[in-house]
Amino acid sequence: MKFATKLIHAGIEPDPSTGAIMTPIYQTSTYVQDAPGVHKGYEYARTQNPTRTVLEKNLAALENGTAGICFASGLAATDAILKMLKPGDEVIASNDLYGGSYRLMVRIFQKFGVIPHFVDMTNLEKIQAAINENTRLIWIETPTNPLLRIVDISKVCALADQKGIMTCVDNTFASPYLQKPLDLGADLVIHSATKYLGGHSDTILGAVVASTQELADELHFIQNASGAVPGPMDCFLVLRGIKTLHVRVRQACKNAKDIAQYLKAHPKIKKVHYPGFEDHPGHAIAAKQMKKFGAMVSFELKDDSIEKANLVLSNTRLFSLAESLGGVESLIGHPASMTHGSIPREERIKNGLSDSLIRLSVGIEDIEDLIEDLENALAKV
Ligand SMILES: *Cc1c(COP(=O)(O)O)cnc(C)c1O
Repeated sequence: MKFATKLIHAGIEPDPSTGAIMTPIYQTSTYVQDAPGVHKGYEYARTQNPTRTVLEKNLAALENGTAGICFASGLAATDAILKMLKPGDEVIASNDLYGGSYRLMVRIFQKFGVIPHFVDMTNLEKIQAAINENTRLIWIETPTNPLLRIVDISKVCALADQKGIMTCVDNTFASPYLQKPLDLGADLVIHSATKYLGGHSDTILGAVVASTQELADELHFIQNASGAVPGPMDCFLVLRGIKTLHVRVRQACKNAKDIAQYLKAHPKIKKVHYPGFEDHPGHAIAAKQMKKFGAMVSFELKDDSIEKANLVLSNTRLFSLAESLGGVESLIGHPASMTHGSIPREERIKNGLSDSLIRLSVGIEDIEDLIEDLENALAKV
């Protein structure tokens, strides 16, 4: 089955009791047994829910994995993976990791003796140098947020494989339409389905897809033992969102490309971060491992100040000022004061996040309206 067909059909059967073509929302906590231990495969809804099962099967097919395991949020999924580790184990992750994953590793798991190291993952030598006999997990995120840096998934996974280290790719920014990390050698893929998979900014949900049954069993155990499961309504919303993933992401990528080109030519703009540009340092790798270059674009103003950035941020009308990404509607954000506000200014600037850096999650509105909106806001600077 080809990808677009899988989005709509993989793991999805008409409901056996009624023939309903859409997977029903099984809003139940328990299931009646015929006799003790005699049941239809469902005992208690933390452990199993039919709406969730369908979503898990569908996601496994989309990522070419063995099994999907869903969680209450992207961070709950990350939490479950980190719970596979034990005190003394070490993790290598990117120095521009998603802020929530950073906080989870540093402020929660470090307390339990799991030691994180943050390195520039675009540099294989830096990863190699951080590996020791305790390294148990390499956490890859690509493209990164908000600078859209690109990590070479197959090279990092090959290095990890030689040393018997588990790899996990946060595939939230790309979605399985653009990038399939398991095909490139990763052991696990994680998603904030809140973003492109759900696609309509109407739910919070997380998922892991495992490459092997052994990893899936361990994660199913943690899913049930720790209990951060999504509700059936949220599973339904993500299932519905997934059906249009390809058309949404294809259009958003097309809009993002046009917007990146428009911004690059704008006299008030110093730099545009977009992996689709040939002079982007990760362009060749992105072209190799992604189907298209994604729908996230960030840019810096020539007049690099928070005040000037604020003029852009408060004057767009179609681009809504909000955290999150991956919905059909375009969003605009300011990493320095929003997602990365807790990082000291000096450190933030050292990591390449200037005061005027603005991040766009490009949606699927008409491109002419989107560009006019940016044009009007930039005119205020
Ligand atoms: C949003 C996001 C997460 C966390 O997901 P939630 O669903 O908000 O918990 C993790 N990784 C990336 C790259 C994200 O953008």
